[in-house]
Amino acid sequence: MARLEESVVDGSRAPGKASPKDLPSVDRLLREPVVAQLVAEHGHSCVAQQVRLLVDDLRSRVLQGTLEASEVGAEALSAAVQQRVAGRLAPRMRNVLNLTGTVIHTNLGRALLADEALAHLLKMMSGPNNLEYDLATGGRGDRDSIVEELLTTLTGAEAATIVNNNAAAVLLTIAALARDREVIVSRGELVEIGGAFRMPDVMASAGANMVEVGTTNRTHPHDYERAINDRTALLMKVHTSNYAVQGFTSAVSEAELSAIAHARGLPVATDLGSGALVDLAAWGLPREPMPQEMLAAGCDVVTFSGDKLLGGPQAGLIVGSRASIGKIRKYPMKRALRMSKLPLAALEATLMIYLRSDRVAQDLPTLRLLTRPESDIRRLAQALFPAVAEAVGPRFSVSVEGMQGQIGSGSLPVERLASAGLAIAPVAKKGAGRALDELATALRRLPVPVIGRISEDRLLLDLRCLEDSALFAAQLPALRQALS
Ligand SMILES: *Cc1c(COP(=O)(O)O)cnc(C)c1O
Repeated sequence: MARLEESVVDGSRAPGKASPKDLPSVDRLLREPVVAQLVAEHGHSCVAQQVRLLVDDLRSRVLQGTLEASEVGAEALSAAVQQRVAGRLAPRMRNVLNLTGTVIHTNLGRALLADEALAHLLKMMSGPNNLEYDLATGGRGDRDSIVEELLTTLTGAEAATIVNNNAAAVLLTIAALARDREVIVSRGELVEIGGAFRMPDVMASAGANMVEVGTTNRTHPHDYERAINDRTALLMKVHTSNYAVQGFTSAVSEAELSAIAHARGLPVATDLGSGALVDLAAWGLPREPMPQEMLAAGCDVVTFSGDKLLGGPQAGLIVGSRASIGKIRKYPMKRALRMSKLPLAALEATLMIYLRSDRVAQDLPTLRLLTRPESDIRRLAQALFPAVAEAVGPRFSVSVEGMQGQIGSGSLPVERLASAGLAIAPVAKKGAGRALDELATALRRLPVPVIGRISEDRLLLDLRCLEDSALFAAQLPALRQALS
């Protein structure tokens, strides 16, 4: 560093490089017309901060001898400030196109909200609302009551309560019903889902002692019966949402487990994870257990997510008997896990859609995408094929192909959705891996990033979730430029 500084000072600077005396002052830069315009738009402090950061950066580069003389011209400097301000003010959360083939993709925000949910959310958030205010009495209300009747109507439960997400619903249920006591669960159901949610750890966090029974593949009624003692507080079933135990297997059904528990005065809780409110088999999709079935089988509490198959906002829904839900609702931890008014508004409007059950597959984006016919998706792929082939140029070959998508978010882990899309493969075998990375990167850098998946040396764009094909097509010239 010291030597570099000396070399600048003694004038042995490489030709074309800027010298320290070329550096602008912060004040001078702020007076440049383009920058002054930015100040008028965004305020002094935001723009001045970016100007200061730019000048710091230029100073350190001039000392390293890497700053070009052309970079310190008024026009170049103004453009640099403009770029920094735009970068600083660009939201980090952005829309992307999910062409992964996974419909409910946790990393891409899970379920898409229905138009009605968005409209209700916007309306409720643009002014005060009766979140916790009882309009009939003028007294304090309870936010649960906004959706409780909808949830009990749709699931047949006696009562319902809501929290921030399903992980919170499970944690709260266990803590409220079994803190400092024992919870019996089958070894075949000790799930780990993404984001460090592992059933044994959740039990420990809730302060319950987990008692594992049975084996990985087989658990029998007598396994539960033998484990019950006077410290037992709860029998628990967990839907194995992201894996399947197949072959020589046996599990105790919710109905059998409820009979065992109720004969001893104990409750049963079932964590469904996804939990569909409608029978997906009606659209030829694989069946997912429904909360209403679990309640009908005798379960006292059923927990499920708002943003998986339900197709709503992030939420943890807890439905069940009046006695169990009453304990859960009164448990102090509930306050820390409570749902915000934003998702609550979206949840209410989403549940309303289920009241008009004939229209759910049109009105709920998640179901609309899941039930989209393969032939439609293939037609879309064929229509986009020529433009995509042109955009990726001669280095890649493109083909329209059948693909295997999935529901995602731990629903029906082994089932595949017959889908279609575009497969893009590097033409040259040599450097194919690098070419694929370059392609995936170029797609991610588009104004609306396109997220595909790489499989067997090809980049697959599964088009099941592409509804705005014009938006995708409009970006192809930019893709072409990035790859040329
Ligand atoms: C997804 C899932 C959860 C967690 O739900 P979140 O809404 O993500 O908090 C819990 N249990 C099971 C079985 C799940 O599949």
